[in-house]
Amino acid sequence: MAWFKKARKPIAAPDKTSRVPEGLWVKCPECDAIIYTKDLVKNLGVCAKCSHHFRLTALERLKSLFDDEEFVEMDRNLRSNDPINFTDTKPYSKRLAASQATTGLADAIITGVGRINGIETVVAAMEYAFIGGSLGVVMGEKIVRGIEVALARQLPVVIVSCSGGARMMEGALSLMQMAKISAALARLDRARLPYVSVLTDPTTGGVTASFAMLGDLNIAEPKALIGFAGPRVIEQTIRQKLPEGFQRSEFLIEHGMLDLVVDRRELKATIARALTFMGAHATAVAATGVAPQAAERPGDA
Ligand SMILES: [Zn+2]
Repeated sequence: MAWFKKARKPIAAPDKTSRVPEGLWVKCPECDAIIYTKDLVKNLGVCAKCSHHFRLTALERLKSLFDDEEFVEMDRNLRSNDPINFTDTKPYSKRLAASQATTGLADAIITGVGRINGIETVVAAMEYAFIGGSLGVVMGEKIVRGIEVALARQLPVVIVSCSGGARMMEGALSLMQMAKISAALARLDRARLPYVSVLTDPTTGGVTASFAMLGDLNIAEPKALIGFAGPRVIEQTIRQKLPEGFQRSEFLIEHGMLDLVVDRRELKATIARALTFMGAHATAVAATGVAPQAAERPGDA
């Protein structure tokens, strides 16, 4: 006979969410519908049958928001130089190189200037496939530079979060980005320029604990996981099953943590309406053009 008995059942594995997969046909993980991939792309990665939101890449996200899918990217080549020489199961430098190879990006974020229904806007979008969209020194610097461009040119800012939180491979330097970005957003606020935060699945950890929750308007996509510690960590700590829908957008808006939950197909129009309400104006393309000042700076590490 065993000395100890397990009183509780082990915690069920977390459900997996999928990005838009490659191939001709895709099965929706929510309703099991078989979807033609081209239809899914046309529908901005939303299942036409059950409205399941597939995860978008940073590039797809920016294209979905900007007029004619056009924008000028900023600080494209900023990359991390492994500041604390970190190794876990493999060296951080190898992890970085692998993510750079698979995503084609230098880090987990793309920032750009373009137009949202005619309103010139600085938009940052995170890439979850790059080390979980984690917030490190490069993401911090790129967002702050984006905000500085917005300040210089009197533009609104939109940040689309999709992140597991701070990047542990850069230690405390990652955590410092939370304060750095928050301080830049405070300057934006003092300049009376709007900031809209879009929270997508998942938005957790240090990202939620700083700029993702600081928007003049905090908009989430349906059923997005949003929280500080993830549900698995909380369940393992308190050893209890969490209530249905805990940390999902719909639960959070009921508890006053969000302003809006918006279907992705309505997101662009909603952001444009909000920016107009907050004083941003659509400008003629010919008048200003799209020419960000934050081109590559010498000494980008
Ligand atoms: Zn579906």
